[in-house]
Amino acid sequence: MIFGAIEAGGTKFVCAVSDENLQILERSSIPTTTPQETMEHVFAFFKKYEVDAIGIGSFGPIDVNPKSETYGYITKTPKLAWQDYPFLAEMKKHFDVPYGWTTDVNAAAYGEIRKGAAFGNSSCIYITVGTGIGAGIVIDNKVIHGFGHPEAGHLLVRRHSEDSYEGNCPFHHDCLEGMAAGPAIENRFGEKAQNLGETHQAWEIEAFYLAQALVNYTLTVSPDKIIFGGGVMKQKQLYPLIYKEFDKLMNNYIVTPPLENYIVPCDLGDNAGITGCLLLAMDALEEDLKQK
Ligand code: ADP
Ligand code: ZN
Repeated sequence: MIFGAIEAGGTKFVCAVSDENLQILERSSIPTTTPQETMEHVFAFFKKYEVDAIGIGSFGPIDVNPKSETYGYITKTPKLAWQDYPFLAEMKKHFDVPYGWTTDVNAAAYGEIRKGAAFGNSSCIYITVGTGIGAGIVIDNKVIHGFGHPEAGHLLVRRHSEDSYEGNCPFHHDCLEGMAAGPAIENRFGEKAQNLGETHQAWEIEAFYLAQALVNYTLTVSPDKIIFGGGVMKQKQLYPLIYKEFDKLMNNYIVTPPLENYIVPCDLGDNAGITGCLLLAMDALEEDLKQK
């Protein structure tokens, strides 16, 4: 069997095909330009194979509601060329196979629970802190979709007392993403996050915002694990700062697992999304066979 995966990101699309053991046969990275241009490459990539199912984890927002007329579309993205793009329908025109369809971060959460840092558990939240902040949620071994999908990178946060940065989220200004994604750190301090020293005040402020999100995730979902990905989280000194702030905010209201085991870096790194997409493709095929 051959399974296909597309991790559709704002800067690049990663396409891969694997066998049923997740052994990657080929992988390709395609720049995200216009749908026309990018998707030509995507179609050409998969045309070389007889894929049995495809899993897609896409940047969004996307429509994940099967009852909706625009199911399978990328919807309100700031990437204007991709607004209202019928991603799934265009794929189906070329490859008439079962599809898994979810957000990039849900796919990564699914990869991490099946093969990574949350292995052996039935729920997890995956949060990536990079150019934006996104969070994917798996409960009962299923990615979460409601009328839509979680957008837990945009939680509303309290402001740090020494922080006057206005925030850069185009929708909410000072939401979590607006205050704590890589570009917010850069705008606040006039220097790329990776160039700030380990002891810079930036990290205490960063931990202050991230811990609030994690407390809210814990109070709402009570996941088995919270897993971090994304460029900003390469700053390992953030973890103890986040634990300290988390403890302060939670104030012993809930007894969580020990924080070093509960709030952890991802295991699969750049492979989390693709792994999740391949597994979603396998699930989609299995579901399809059940219905036949
Ligand atoms: P993307 O979100 O575009 O997929 P990244 O996760 O690498 O890619 O996020 C890019 C952002 O993360 C940039 O704002 C960059 O400044 C920041 N970043 C990348 N590497 C590091 C690092 N080692 N330490 C701190 N910040 C980083
Ligand atoms: Zn926002």
